[in-house]
Amino acid sequence: MSEVGALLREDLRGRTAYGAPQLQVPVALNTNESSYAVPQSVVDAIVAEVSAVAPSLNRYPDREFTMLREQLAGYLTRTTGVEFDIDQVWAGNGSNEVLSHLVQTFGGPGRTALGFTPSYSMHPIIAQGAGMAWVDGLRRGALESGAFDIDLDEAVRQAHEHDPSLVFLCSPNNPTGTALPLEIVTAVYDAAPNAVVVVDEAYAEFARPGTPSAVTLLQGRERLVVTRTMSKAFAFAGVRLGYLAAAGDLTELLRLVRLPYHLSSVTQAVARAALSHADTMLEMVEAIKTERDRMVEQTRSLGFMPVASDANFVLIGGFADAQQTWQALLDQGVLVRDVGIPHHLRITAGTPAETDEVLAALADLAPGHRQQASEETP
Ligand SMILES: *Cc1c(COP(=O)(O)O)cnc(C)c1O
Repeated sequence: MSEVGALLREDLRGRTAYGAPQLQVPVALNTNESSYAVPQSVVDAIVAEVSAVAPSLNRYPDREFTMLREQLAGYLTRTTGVEFDIDQVWAGNGSNEVLSHLVQTFGGPGRTALGFTPSYSMHPIIAQGAGMAWVDGLRRGALESGAFDIDLDEAVRQAHEHDPSLVFLCSPNNPTGTALPLEIVTAVYDAAPNAVVVVDEAYAEFARPGTPSAVTLLQGRERLVVTRTMSKAFAFAGVRLGYLAAAGDLTELLRLVRLPYHLSSVTQAVARAALSHADTMLEMVEAIKTERDRMVEQTRSLGFMPVASDANFVLIGGFADAQQTWQALLDQGVLVRDVGIPHHLRITAGTPAETDEVLAALADLAPGHRQQASEETP
């Protein structure tokens, strides 16, 4: 062990870091980014906003990011029909930072976080990084039907059993893609009376019509939090801007742990410019959903087993050996994600041309890479 290795916190020993490969490939469909560049009209607005703040970069940014919160509250109000004021909105450098603020404020050593696996791999990493105990709650459907749905009674039972300080729900869920019925959110909220319940809605804008957002549940539930991000639907992963909606009493407490001036003047300016052009930024969402649905239909015709998706990706089952198919696709210049679920790969919905490429590659591979009926998990 190296000299510093010996100094590492005991509870971090043996851990591996988050590490989705960042490879230069013709078709990158592994981290659920948008394949579409930021539109030129928004690029121009960004450049103008940054240029306006550049002379004042000798000063610290607005610590309260007031104008940005106003715009985020406006965006949420406009798109969800639920009225938000700026005290109910908080933001950070990616929703990962916002999640980390929640964990630092309501979690920490001696406390337990509960999530339902498979879900977003950063939830346990952030919780454990802050010294929390992590409980891998089970999605009963994952074991029985391959549908990955959370079973309401089972979720309630696990919430009672573990009495967590934090519960992570993810809807639409990454990596499985399906949105959560709101009854599960309210049931888990009621079953975990000492918990802040976080609904990670990173993919909300991609949900199929009629899928309700958990923001409609916030009124009267002071322990409920809904996190969102500009990384996915806004095609803005490089900016690092995530946010949350919750009761004003809750967001107030997050100021205890955030680093002062955590959102730079440049980040605030860039995010404001994009939010002023939200409609343009979101223009490609429908096109991406079309490609997602095409990927579901076509991979099913190829004999694979795609999971119903409300996100900008599809989890596809039915591979004999997911790792082998992952490599074979990479050999053809297509990078997808092996999320560690046996026989499954997750593929981001990109442009029509990218969908064509990935489908052609899968059609090519299907005969040798399809799971045989006898190998299917019962
Ligand atoms: C991509 C993703 C995020 C986004 O994180 P950022 O830090 O905002 O880029 C959050 N939650 C889930 C479930 C995701 O898949």
